Amino acid sequence: MGVARVHTRVTSEHGPVDIPVGATGTIVIDLAQASANWRALARHVAPAACGAVVKADAYGMGAARIIPALVAAGCRHFFVATPQEASAARELAPNSVIYVLDGLIPGTARDLMSIGAIPVLASLREIREWATYTSNHVNLPPAAVHIDTGLNRLGISEKEVAELSRDADLLARLNTSLIMSHLACADEAGHPMNREQLDKFNRLRAKLPFAPASIAASDGMMLSSEYHLDLVRPGYALFGGQATPGRMTPVRPVLRVSARILQVRDVAPGHFIGYSASYGARKRLRVATVAAGYADGLFRHASATNEDPGGLVSIRGRHAPIVGRVSMDLITVDVTHIDDPAPIPGDWVDLVGPDLAIETVGAGAKTIGYEVLTRWRPRFHRAYLEQGD
Ligand SMILES: *Cc1c(COP(=O)(O)O)cnc(C)c1O
Repeated sequence: MGVARVHTRVTSEHGPVDIPVGATGTIVIDLAQASANWRALARHVAPAACGAVVKADAYGMGAARIIPALVAAGCRHFFVATPQEASAARELAPNSVIYVLDGLIPGTARDLMSIGAIPVLASLREIREWATYTSNHVNLPPAAVHIDTGLNRLGISEKEVAELSRDADLLARLNTSLIMSHLACADEAGHPMNREQLDKFNRLRAKLPFAPASIAASDGMMLSSEYHLDLVRPGYALFGGQATPGRMTPVRPVLRVSARILQVRDVAPGHFIGYSASYGARKRLRVATVAAGYADGLFRHASATNEDPGGLVSIRGRHAPIVGRVSMDLITVDVTHIDDPAPIPGDWVDLVGPDLAIETVGAGAKTIGYEVLTRWRPRFHRAYLEQGD
């Protein structure tokens, strides 16, 4: 935009960040906290190793900044979803192990090998294609094998594990660096499927030549140390996500999203707020119009009607409900109860922040914190806090 002037605003205990004067919204990502989260998770699972899942541009937090920060923190195992993500990760983490969770996309074996990325082979077809491609190499490049234990999404079935275990020729052409599976219900600590999947995984992997094993993501790693095996694969928790309700993961939020109040107005009883007149004032309301909408990443499902409460924002630590429809660029917020002092145009409100967890924001839009992390769009000014900022 060519706005040269900046003003400074304190956004976290780690310090201030410079914001262009015309910015209506900010996305502030605390790299120091992401590193601290990884270290806390690594301590929690030791002696198991702790990797980092950085698919989808590090859950929208920016792989280009997150990956180097995690490398500096000591992380050596990264998981991405796609070959493109793997090649970006390779540039950022030249000496790390990089796994590709989507498996072997047909025809990509050569590219993966050339960047030293490891496919998480998820079907016998993929295993055969990889073995065919790699078997003429003197040093077999490593591969991971994904076993399905009940999610029915990716991975070889029990029957296919048996078939693979009998195929000595195929096994001899496979250099397995990791055997993994994925849990369906680990966000419910008491769900019987957790134990069933762990038992099935341990039983099936015993049929294959020994390799390090991994089953736990952010939620599974909080179940018990039995789920840590050799390597855990958190993604959400790195960014402060609390994946298992009722089990406090030892991490803190990384993301703060804020936007400015443009106007504050009184709405008299009987008058409506926003598109489709879906919210009527039942008493006199003070309503702040905030420069944030679904084009920035807010959920339109956070719209409130008189019958159905929507989402919340936070103003200096006080929650304030969204009233009426979330529109493309704007939301309207009931600030009637905030009078110490009353919000004025130019003030900032948090859409996600220290007083408004991603899980709370997700619940306000009938979704989960994961979707809250991954959806912020480029219109808001993005800034990173680093160690010592
Ligand atoms: C995304 C993903 C993870 C990370 O999950 P979180 O819940 O974000 O920790 C781990 N393993 C697999 C297979 C995944 O797809």
